[in-house]
Amino acid sequence: MKIKSVKLFAIIFVLTVFGSSWVNTSGAKAPKKPRNIILFIGDGMGTAQVSAGMQVKSGSLFLELFPYAGFSKTFSADNYVTDSAAGGTAISCGVKTRNGMIGMGPDSTVLRSIIEIAHSNGLATGIVSTSAVTHATPASFVAHNAGRGNYEDIAKDFLSGTVDVFIGGGENHFRKRADGADLTLDLKTKGYDVVYTLDDLKKSGSSKIAGLLSKEHMPSVEAGRSGMLTEMVNKAIETLSRDKDGFFLMVEGSMIDWGGHDKNIAYVVSEMIDLDDAIGAAYRYADQNKQTLIVVTADHETGGLTLTGGNVADKSLHVNFIQSGNHTAVMVPVFSFGPGAEKFAGILDNTYFFGEFLNLLKIK
Ligand code: MG
Ligand code: ZN
Repeated sequence: MKIKSVKLFAIIFVLTVFGSSWVNTSGAKAPKKPRNIILFIGDGMGTAQVSAGMQVKSGSLFLELFPYAGFSKTFSADNYVTDSAAGGTAISCGVKTRNGMIGMGPDSTVLRSIIEIAHSNGLATGIVSTSAVTHATPASFVAHNAGRGNYEDIAKDFLSGTVDVFIGGGENHFRKRADGADLTLDLKTKGYDVVYTLDDLKKSGSSKIAGLLSKEHMPSVEAGRSGMLTEMVNKAIETLSRDKDGFFLMVEGSMIDWGGHDKNIAYVVSEMIDLDDAIGAAYRYADQNKQTLIVVTADHETGGLTLTGGNVADKSLHVNFIQSGNHTAVMVPVFSFGPGAEKFAGILDNTYFFGEFLNLLKIK
């Protein structure tokens, strides 16, 4: 089955290359630049996490369909080992900042994120995460705060309206606040459909959706979230793709990191495979759409995971984590598919993504 699909892929590839050069002579050519970009961030997803997912998942990872791969250097402005705030900000804003800072330079200068710039250029924008949407990684695309833990302030930054569709956890940061405010009322005034369940999310026909599917973070896959991320991604794509100007969507698999901190390989692998399923959903869309670039990377590796043994036949794994379960400084993988994908091969800095996304979308 595997061999057959690889062959089919090769045949399609040959036809595509051969076919498009033929089509070029008639004047109509496939776009070299994407209209849409979908960025996946696996928090804490190093090459060992990807390899572990590959070993355990039936068949192969959707990631293996991606024709380009590279590495990203993750160090922050003040630490060789980054946290998710500085790592997210480097990716979202193209500037290395200090650990703990969201959407700000090391001197607290407010930066513009790719989401904000895409929004001001008329593109539809979206964020999907399995953590609270106010948590460091998604926050770094929307908010500006010197402290990643200031969740209620970060929630307020969503009122800027720069994100058309945001789906994840975090209801409490919008509705159960020290200041007594209910930010969902402001969101409704600004035209958002505010939903709290996956069913209501799926039913929404609004072009602006605030999906707060959990009080705090969403449950882990092992605690029952299985498949939800894929549905969240599908809904985000369905909604954002109605914008004729294109869209930028960031999707975070937040909990690969938490499995690493817990030194729990079952947690890591279940979250890794769940993220890969969501990547598969985006791949199916991009493969048909032809104008969508998908880039998959991580903010850093977590846990110093190594795979010390296992058995390919029975999908078993023997692993080690570092004692602390902390983040590490090793480079993380980058996978890309679609128009412009070749720009993300090789060894990149984590500040590279932002500028190249702007280039490819022809926005500033
Ligand atoms: Mg994160
Ligand atoms: Zn972490």
